[in-house]
Amino acid sequence: AAKESGKASWVRFEPRMRQDMAAHARLAGELRNGIAGGELRLLYQPIFDLVTGRIHGCEALVRWQHPVRGFVSPGEFIPCAERSGLIVPLGSWVLREACEQLARWRIERGAAAVEAVNVNVAVRQLREPGFVDEVAAVLSDTGLTPYDLIIEVTESSVVDGWQVTETLQALHDMGVRLALDDFGTGQSSLSLLRAFPVNSLKLDKSFVDGIADGADRGRLAVAAAVALLAEHLQLKAVAEGIEHQEQLERLRDMGYRYGQGFLMARPLPAADCGALMADAPVHVA
Ligand code: C2E
Ligand code: MG
Ligand code: MG
Ligand code: MG
Repeated sequence: AAKESGKASWVRFEPRMRQDMAAHARLAGELRNGIAGGELRLLYQPIFDLVTGRIHGCEALVRWQHPVRGFVSPGEFIPCAERSGLIVPLGSWVLREACEQLARWRIERGAAAVEAVNVNVAVRQLREPGFVDEVAAVLSDTGLTPYDLIIEVTESSVVDGWQVTETLQALHDMGVRLALDDFGTGQSSLSLLRAFPVNSLKLDKSFVDGIADGADRGRLAVAAAVALLAEHLQLKAVAEGIEHQEQLERLRDMGYRYGQGFLMARPLPAADCGALMADAPVHVA
């Protein structure tokens, strides 16, 4: 926590931290083995067109099936992967696997297959010198085009100082699309947003949560403002974490054309997500 707060020299070394570090080191060691040993899986959460009810795309979400601990959630091991640097090999695996899966869906589903796959990328990966080349190589190996891939980066990861602008620009120039994830929670200024080659804004779930009862005016205001911002900057507006029909309707009225959430579909194994692609539209009326 000291490193994250940027005040490393001021924090006393408590026994509790020694435990934390030991736990972190153990988890990192197991994660390293897990990556090498094929314990990672990808689930895919459909992203729906809220007007037609059809699948528009899907987001790859990593899962770790640990032999002893069982299922470990990404909320637990992604931060560990980021701190340990394991996010780089982990992220490489995710990128390749997700692209291979889209290629498989194209073969199995033809025109019904989604037009692109969304892959979460950590800032640590963007800062790897070879990242742009890696993306190009994966696309070429899997027979995809840059337009088939949407890279999701969190809003907070692209704030100034991380020196990822050039990388994002290079990906954009290549034709890869960029989505700003967890939008509304970070500190990006509007001018920063204009400076980045972004294609879509994903409103963070916390704002969607505030819509359920309609009582939280603050979060409602942010949700509405983000939709307007997207419209005026000609970006796609995507809402994540939709759990209730009322949220879906209000978000759509605000201008969110796209959305994902347990109301429509949870993250699914590839086969189940593929099966949904040919299905009738979900009920969105
Ligand atoms: P995210 O990219 O914002 O992904 C959305 C998260 O919200 C997913 O959690 C998804 O399962 C969850 N979600 C979607 N709809 C609903 C809903 O209606 N209700 C609720 N309660 N949750 C919903 P998940 O899969 O646990 O992933 C958590 C985070 O871990 C992701 O947030 C992302 O930041 C990170 N992550 C997941 N996979 C990867 C990966 O391959 N690479 C990297 N770098 N990060 C990843
Ligand atoms: Mg995401
Ligand atoms: Mg998100
Ligand atoms: Mg999130």
